[in-house]
Amino acid sequence: MAVRLAEEWFATCAGCEVSILDIGEPLLDILKQVEIVHMPILMDHKLFGQAGERAEMEIPEADVGLISGSIRNEEHRHVAEEMRRKCKVLISLGSCACHGGIPALANLGTNDDILNLAYRDTITTDRNGMPCEEIPPLTDRVYALHEVVAVDMILPGCPTTPEMLAGALTALLEGKEYKLSTKSVCDDCPLQREKKVLSTVKRRLEGPRFTPGRPLSEMQCLMEQGYLCLGPVTRGGCGGSERVPRCIRAYMTCEGCFGPLSTKVNPMVDMVGALATVGIEAEQILDRNATLNRFSGAGRLRPVGKR
Ligand code: SF4
Ligand code: SF4
Ligand code: SF4
Repeated sequence: MAVRLAEEWFATCAGCEVSILDIGEPLLDILKQVEIVHMPILMDHKLFGQAGERAEMEIPEADVGLISGSIRNEEHRHVAEEMRRKCKVLISLGSCACHGGIPALANLGTNDDILNLAYRDTITTDRNGMPCEEIPPLTDRVYALHEVVAVDMILPGCPTTPEMLAGALTALLEGKEYKLSTKSVCDDCPLQREKKVLSTVKRRLEGPRFTPGRPLSEMQCLMEQGYLCLGPVTRGGCGGSERVPRCIRAYMTCEGCFGPLSTKVNPMVDMVGALATVGIEAEQILDRNATLNRFSGAGRLRPVGKR
């Protein structure tokens, strides 16, 4: 019998849904064993009936539920609760769902700050043109999915990698356990570390040194070259079977999109320690709080003065 799959999206950019398509050929094998029963990006399945005639929200029962995006309004919270009731296994898909992701940068301001910026204080909108009453109210802040409902598995990344998604779905179909990497991006990184001490952080536009065509193992660690790289405090695994982290493969620093290795650690505190080992003081990092929590702000970022 086919495994029933439901998918929902909240405060999201749909990049994680594109990752489902990016699975490529293995997706054909997965689809042979799966019946998609609910997926707003693919099917026009209304939550309250096709004409809004139902009083109760209706999401079909499913064996596996995937949710991308963070929780930004009361409708998201309501749908998350309904997905939890209807899905035997619930998976956070991508860093917005796992850790708040980019939408959780909004937690640096109050809801009023955000509404002022978007609707009241812009020259292109009517000062009284606030969203109407039919728009779901904002939650007090942006939440990661696990802060609202119990989650069985997280698949981090912005977006999550097709390889990881295929691995997790295949493991579920085979009744096996799927484990995330317990190593950091640095542990997977082949660049050379020479324990060089620096004094300043460079702007990324200056461009790291590398020799085109030469192996990555001949390139010097980007942090030791003076660029802020969040590899030391970020969960590894984005490189899939090749192991080399996605951004490092493109000669770019890790921005931390897989989030911290554990929700119990504070990447900002750990990163300040890692920077100290190469002689960089945390004060040099512009917009430090947001930069070091860029993808994990749901439980961490708060309006200045209200932490
Ligand atoms: S994790 Fe990234 S790609 Fe996925 S929905 Fe959020 S912003 Fe988009
Ligand atoms: S700091 Fe960045 S460049 Fe250096 S080893 Fe870690 S991941 Fe690689
Ligand atoms: S290297 Fe860092 S930012 Fe890039 S994909 Fe991997 S975890 Fe995300």
